[in-house]
Amino acid sequence: MSELLVVGSANVDLVVETQRRPGAGETVLGGDTRVLPGGKGANTAVAAAKLGAGTALYGAVGSDEYGELLLDSLGEAGVDTSLVEMTYRPTGIAYITVTPDGENSILVSPGANNTVEPDRLTDALPGAKVLVASMEIPRATVERAVLDAAAAGVRTILNLSPVARVSGEALAALDILLVNEHEAKWLLDGGDDLTALLSLGPSAAVVTLGARGALVVESTGTTELEALRVEAVDTTGAGDAFAGALAAGLAREVGLVQAAREATWVSAYSVTRAGAQPSYPWATELREWSL
Ligand code: ADP
Repeated sequence: MSELLVVGSANVDLVVETQRRPGAGETVLGGDTRVLPGGKGANTAVAAAKLGAGTALYGAVGSDEYGELLLDSLGEAGVDTSLVEMTYRPTGIAYITVTPDGENSILVSPGANNTVEPDRLTDALPGAKVLVASMEIPRATVERAVLDAAAAGVRTILNLSPVARVSGEALAALDILLVNEHEAKWLLDGGDDLTALLSLGPSAAVVTLGARGALVVESTGTTELEALRVEAVDTTGAGDAFAGALAAGLAREVGLVQAAREATWVSAYSVTRAGAQPSYPWATELREWSL
């Protein structure tokens, strides 16, 4: 049984560079398609497993070529995929166009991710120390996962991304709410007092601030963590790297602030390299990098 259970999506990212985005009814020729493993759940699981945490992903892919690709990349990182169901729906796909200004536009077809039900959680939770869930799968499944994990004494992290309303009951049972600053603002109806995130229910909140680092908000006070100064090449999947590293730290039973500090190192490493999963460090690479 894995000490860290990641509940979330697995998608293939189909990335095309284009001079400009097609408008309605228009056809534009772009570059060659790059096919990359992604999805918030899979990225988080890969980040944690590469750091050495015993990690399982609870999710679903289609029984198709892309599903195989995702299972392979999860397996290569050392993620236990026995809880990834192969379903009749196609593997989730993110269609990503990138313009020369570096802007992305992304259309997600969730496919198999929409079939992730909470029914198998009772088999998945025993042995877990930490559960980290993210959106891109049915909201009811995420809420159930948080409630069941909390009831089983498993530490819970909810990476509320893409941001959505979740039940007050789930938020009240939650240990750590993890959001970026835009998601925090949305949750606070435009407000910028981040300590108010605790009034939504979680015991603590961690807010990522891009190149400015992260904040750990606890009832005892707020801790600011500066980001490492690095040359950013590609910030894709930085938030998922942060989530995986935070969860891996908590699974090792380090304190929340220290786990979040380690997560700023791991996510800074990831932005210095292209892609999401391939940009995440193995534990040895991280140690050598920070020497
Ligand atoms: P998301 O990808 O979810 O929008 P952020 O942009 O806040 O999340 O990035 C997550 C974390 O990645 C940050 O808290 C920070 O530690 C790290 N990070 C992101 N961009 C940079 C950067 N340019 N330099 C150093 N660290 C970065």
